[in-house]
Amino acid sequence: MSDLTQGIWSNWSGFQKSMPQQILQPANIQELQSIVQAQQKIRVVGAGHSFTPLVCTDATLLSLDHIAGIASTDLDRCQSSIYAGTRLYDLDQHLQLQSINQALMNQGDIDQQSLAGAVSTGTHGTGADLHCISAYVEAFELLTASGEILKCSRTEHPEIFAAGRVSLGSLGILTQITMQNRPRYKLKEHIELCPVEDIMQHIQQWKHQHRHIECFVFSHEKQLMLKTLDETDEAVLPRKENFPSDDTLLTLCSELTKKFPSLNPYLQKLLGIFVKPTTYVDWSSKIFPTPRNTKFNEMEYQIPVDRGIECLDEVLNALRKYKVATFFPLEFRFVKGDDIWLSPFYQQDSISISVHQYHKQDPRLIFDVVEPILQKYKGRPHWGKMHQMNKTQLRALYPKWDDFMALRQQLDPEAKFLNPYLEKLFLG
Ligand SMILES: Cc1cc2nc3c(=O)[nH]c(=O)nc-3n(C[C@H](O)[C@H](O)[C@H](O)COP(=O)(O)OP(=O)(O)OC[C@H]3O[C@@H](n4cnc5c(N)ncnc54)[C@H](O)[C@@H]3O)c2cc1C
Repeated sequence: MSDLTQGIWSNWSGFQKSMPQQILQPANIQELQSIVQAQQKIRVVGAGHSFTPLVCTDATLLSLDHIAGIASTDLDRCQSSIYAGTRLYDLDQHLQLQSINQALMNQGDIDQQSLAGAVSTGTHGTGADLHCISAYVEAFELLTASGEILKCSRTEHPEIFAAGRVSLGSLGILTQITMQNRPRYKLKEHIELCPVEDIMQHIQQWKHQHRHIECFVFSHEKQLMLKTLDETDEAVLPRKENFPSDDTLLTLCSELTKKFPSLNPYLQKLLGIFVKPTTYVDWSSKIFPTPRNTKFNEMEYQIPVDRGIECLDEVLNALRKYKVATFFPLEFRFVKGDDIWLSPFYQQDSISISVHQYHKQDPRLIFDVVEPILQKYKGRPHWGKMHQMNKTQLRALYPKWDDFMALRQQLDPEAKFLNPYLEKLFLG
């Protein structure tokens, strides 16, 4: 459950901190129900991998780490009902069993998150024809402020289902989530350098030629890292650790950039020496996650797909113009639209642009340069990543904002599940 030292909870990057009055880890759903009935203010933490203060509280912090594992499986529909606290890496240990033979439809860059945490913020990977993880939820069970457990799906409590798949823990506590999976599959990962200009011109066509396509763009380098993933039946060719590892290089270059900002353009230009074309084949759950040992803070906006390239170009120009000292590359991905009320992809196919800053550097310096551009292109912020949007701005971006707030008020009139951060965003 992220970091806990001397009663201070902090998120993965260490940027968000709070001192909860108590941290409880119920052993089962009955215990969880009693806690919800007894406590006035509660926040739930998954793996603490969000960059925003979603989890910060000075009241009760609840971890569902002990409410984990598979509850049931429907082999015909290729669905599994999973306890909410299950970490994605553990989930795969269950799903890959021969008797189950299932895999998640898509995943993001890491597998450390809890399933409920990933679902609640609209966590996503990349793929023009693939949704965020929340859109593969077929049903869930929600423990509400009154202590009642509601089963929600397209046919049972359909409004709560439409709202609850991306709800930041504000409607209640997800206890069980049914995922639409697919039979296990292997992916071939290919990484190579590619001229930025080629990507700008062709990626809107290339995005349909691969199951997943993703770019890592360095602001001062004319070539970017292009990563594609495609389904294959080929034999496993596992990923090898480079020497020096990507993380070692990233830490070293980030430290150098922090101490000598003017070196950044030259360090980025060295990229060509270290990035060689590589190809690996493995099961999807092994290919999706990559190590993220160099800590950072991150901002990410989802831009309407037709304007994403233009937006990226403007962001890169601004980073160069203002000589922003960040070694980290921008990440550029595709996500298909969905029907979840507060999903950043609500009725909108998107290009996701993320900006990172090394955790020892002030993230606001880069985010202040980039955020106005991302907003100009009508981007919607990732709920788990840093942004400065207020209630009025968010309301303008989400057609179902008022419906969500009315539903939240009805389910939790005493705002048991809101912390000060969400009170400001939701209640204003
Ligand atoms: C290194 C790194 C890489 C990342 N890569 C990606 C990526 O590739 N794609 C992407 O989209 N995001 C990515 N993220 C962001 C991350 O996926 C999200 O912030 C996600 O929400 C984190 O999951 P978590 O389990 O840590 O949840 P937390 O951060 O602990 O919580 C997130 C939200 O979920 C709520 N919640 C948790 N459990 C429950 C529950 N049982 N019931 C109701 N609400 C609950 C919390 O209250 C909170 O509002 C990354 C983050 C990091 C640090």
